[in-house]
Amino acid sequence: MILKLLIFAVVGLLIYKFLGGKLPTLGKTAQEKKLDEDTLVECEKCSTYVTVKESFIVHGKYYCSKECRP
Ligand SMILES: [Zn+2]
Repeated sequence: MILKLLIFAVVGLLIYKFLGGKLPTLGKTAQEKKLDEDTLVECEKCSTYVTVKESFIVHGKYYCSKECRP
């Protein structure tokens, strides 16, 4: 009987860990969306890496500054 309880405890722990591992994954997905703005992109003209947030997008291409932007 005690062994059965132990097995249940272990299984319960595994389920808890599984769910616990799944919840941060959902949070990560939300974070990944947030990180999109901070993704580094290469400037089409001078090859400088800038974040998407700071870059200028012209015709689907990234530019680091107004100087590089056509
Ligand atoms: Zn540039």
